Amino acid sequence: MSSHYERLAAMNKAHVWHPFTQMKDYNNSDPLIIERGEGVMLYDVQGRAYYDGFSSVWLNVHGHNVPELNQAITDQLGRVAHSTLLGMANVPAIELAAKLAQIAPAGLTKVFYSDSGATGVEIAIKMAFQYWYNRGQSSKTGFITMNQAYHGDTIGAVSVGAIPLYHDVFRPMLFPAHTIPYPYAYRHEGGAAAAMEDTLDALRDVLEQRADEIAALIVEPMVQGAGGIILMPPGCLREIASLCRKYGVLLIADEVATGFGRAGEMFACDHEQVSPDLLVIGKGLTGGYLPVAATLATGDIFDAFYAEYEEQKTFFHGHSFTGNPLGCAAALASLDLMQKRNLIEEGKGKAVFIRQKLEALAGRPHIGEVRQLGFMIGIELVKDKRTREAFSWKDRIGVRVSQRARELGMLTRPLGNVVVFMPPLASTEEQLDAMIHILIRSIVDITEGALA
Ligand code: PMP
Repeated sequence: MSSHYERLAAMNKAHVWHPFTQMKDYNNSDPLIIERGEGVMLYDVQGRAYYDGFSSVWLNVHGHNVPELNQAITDQLGRVAHSTLLGMANVPAIELAAKLAQIAPAGLTKVFYSDSGATGVEIAIKMAFQYWYNRGQSSKTGFITMNQAYHGDTIGAVSVGAIPLYHDVFRPMLFPAHTIPYPYAYRHEGGAAAAMEDTLDALRDVLEQRADEIAALIVEPMVQGAGGIILMPPGCLREIASLCRKYGVLLIADEVATGFGRAGEMFACDHEQVSPDLLVIGKGLTGGYLPVAATLATGDIFDAFYAEYEEQKTFFHGHSFTGNPLGCAAALASLDLMQKRNLIEEGKGKAVFIRQKLEALAGRPHIGEVRQLGFMIGIELVKDKRTREAFSWKDRIGVRVSQRARELGMLTRPLGNVVVFMPPLASTEEQLDAMIHILIRSIVDITEGALA
């Protein structure tokens, strides 16, 4: 081991507290310390190369060290790096807002900036709440969410979160939300149709009884991400949207994970022509480069806040880095590059390629379900394929598959027993092929091979 590595590893151990990590485990392992990235590869300080098989937490679009994005940021650096939107505007933030309004689902014309997916969700929650307050319907304060939902780690986002492992410890400090079942077809006795019916029935029940107490429903459209890459049955999102509309409840679409082509269309809502009242975006907005998020709102939402100052309808919310021009410049360059390279349309072909390659897993004994929408792939591993019996969390099966993948030269991060594969959108078929090869070999080695 190089002394450079050892010095960094020691400082890392002494001072860095890592997110979502049991530090006792982590500090007993050799840390992976990344030094640079190039295209779909990441390189550690010891010079080892890894495919970025989870897009550095689901956000990398074009790969790393992309000349066009670097240039856009460098150009903006030569002008101004920080300029808040509190009291002034800046050029890239204005141009990006106009661009987002153009590509977003119909009606979303107003852009409120923040700096992470979670803050974007907080803003959507507070906007929905105050929307009704400003309109004189202050009884509408509640929120509906879905089982296994994940919307970020700040208090409001955790309040509408429903993953017991992450969220239950905080429950006493959170506001309560109505939780309806997520249509998890693989784990529902009746399959997709029955799962969807249960979801819609539960939603109808809450809305019939309590619509006058509810501000909004929040949903991860088409794919529930951190809950386990679980796909909604076709038509479900559209039904949810139409029930919300019918009962006068706002629809918040959290597209932090699914946006910008990740789920196969520019936005996952586009799969079912759904236009939410509020849309939250982050992650891939800057191609994954810089921390920029945004909450898009309809003119109707905006108008409820648009009043004489004395009426006290102002939205009192804002972050120091709101509308950061470096981030907005990166986002503009990323969207430009997506368009130039036709990434979304090309991605559809590549998604088919991925599906075909993953068919090699079909006959394997521990593959419960392979789920895919676009470039979001989750492979649920099971102890018993016939009964669908799950591996115990103590088996740490997902973690072990990821560790094996790392040994073989690809990085990914599991969700419990679900192995996640989320390559950058710009990956070539050749690169995808190499990544899938590692993915399959890791799964086989851990669940069937000498390492099982
Ligand atoms: N919403 C969804 C659907 C997400 O997947 C995530 C992050 N994985 C977030 C919100 C939170 O985003 P951030 O980590 O940028 O706060």
